[in-house]
Amino acid sequence: MASYRIVGNTGEWELVCGLEIHAQVISKSKLFSAAATEFGAEPNSQVSPVDAGMPGMLPVINKFCVEQAVKTGLGLRAEINRTSVFERKNYFYPDLPQGYQISQYLHPLVGEGTVYLDMPDGAVVPIGIERLHMEQDAGKSMHDQEPGKTYVDLNRSGVCLMEIVSKPDIRSPEQAGAYIRKLRSILRYLGTCDGNMEEGSLRCDINVSVRRTGEGFGTRCEVKNVNSVRFVMHAIEAEANRQVEILEDGGKIVQQTRLYDPKKGETRSMRTKEEAHDYRYFPDPDLLPLVVENDWVERIKANMPELPDEKKQRFMESYGLGPYDSGVLVADQETANFYEQVAKGRDPKLAANWLTGEFFGALNRTGVDLSGTPVDAAKLGELIDLISDGTISGRIAKEVFEEMWETGKSAVAIVEEKGLKQISDTGELEAIIDKIIAENPGQVAQVKEGNQKVMGWFVGQTMKATGGKANPKMVNELLRKKLTD
Ligand code: ADP
Ligand code: MG
Repeated sequence: MASYRIVGNTGEWELVCGLEIHAQVISKSKLFSAAATEFGAEPNSQVSPVDAGMPGMLPVINKFCVEQAVKTGLGLRAEINRTSVFERKNYFYPDLPQGYQISQYLHPLVGEGTVYLDMPDGAVVPIGIERLHMEQDAGKSMHDQEPGKTYVDLNRSGVCLMEIVSKPDIRSPEQAGAYIRKLRSILRYLGTCDGNMEEGSLRCDINVSVRRTGEGFGTRCEVKNVNSVRFVMHAIEAEANRQVEILEDGGKIVQQTRLYDPKKGETRSMRTKEEAHDYRYFPDPDLLPLVVENDWVERIKANMPELPDEKKQRFMESYGLGPYDSGVLVADQETANFYEQVAKGRDPKLAANWLTGEFFGALNRTGVDLSGTPVDAAKLGELIDLISDGTISGRIAKEVFEEMWETGKSAVAIVEEKGLKQISDTGELEAIIDKIIAENPGQVAQVKEGNQKVMGWFVGQTMKATGGKANPKMVNELLRKKLTD
């Protein structure tokens, strides 16, 4: 991949970025209480006394949440720490009735791992994972319910989050986008987080600094809570450009927390390091250190699904696809399954081309997702069969596909109805070609002088005369025989 450089007035700068991602764990109940976690429920209808921070309530750990986090750690190829510790992160906020968040700090459940990015040029870029720790989510302040008043909804209070911290290995906005998409893909394969950024189940904090190539890391700024992949990429670019301008003017970067304004396309200061919280972390006296048994981790490992990287490898090896196409096809499980159904017993490359080309194009154009497609895997397979057995040409197939998409009819029915069958009858084609040759002696002479372009013109005329239905291979062969032999 062409490396990403920011060109300033005094030379080039390199971007350095690390992402902290909060991923909401899929589980029926909260991390330390039995309250439900469903999205969009009536405010304060899913709150236990523990989540409301009532005095004297005791947290009880939810084993399923731990299992989800272990699974995720394994999916990130990370080490699972057999002992980890929950600590209190103390701060006051109206949506945090306990006055602290139970999190992990010095001893997280999951240590170092790696996420592999699949870049558009086929390159695979490893990004280090620093850690994954478990923590509770806070409630939500609602400022838009009544003028002059703020309400608090505690439904989210106590929901289990995984904070996944990357190493500062990301070097471009494109890599940051690829990182979030890949991480989301892994989480969805595992079923540990639904990855929905709009609903806030996946939230991203960005850390950005810039440096002269080859130099040590510069001072970083953090941009909080950016809620779409596109905005993450924009925010990183805007923040890096801001820092380059300051440095080129002889200024210094002040470490601070910033917010991204998508309307203005810029970041602005929220608080500086001096104003940063001192959270007074200490181990939560209500919770024992979390010990996960070896056997249990091994059992979870044994039940892991095939993950995107392995699936990609398999697609490359057993279907002969390139790294980029494989990466695209395995990005989500439904697409991968769909592809395997289409490819079964057919030319796998032709199937991949049809899926990533015509089919994805139609999905994008109509805003339909895979579950609502009018052309299912069996129907697409049938269309590909008609191409493979020579019934229709690739060009006609595109027309047939459009019609299938609009009407939901099968390829066979459409070809039959519209008489689109390819003309592969030598006699019939020969008659058409002889007529064209007889009518165009000038062009015939040009071909005989070796003008290849005019040869192409004859192919075009034949196609036109047959409404595009002539078998292109046969047309080429017949013309060559008649005009150049
Ligand atoms: P904090 O607790 O202050 O957020 P962390 O050590 O958890 O600090 O690091 C947060 C993130 O900052 C990590 O994702 C890391 O990769 C990233 N990071 C660290 N140093 C830099 C830097 N110089 N430039 C950009 N990102 C950085
Ligand atoms: Mg941070």
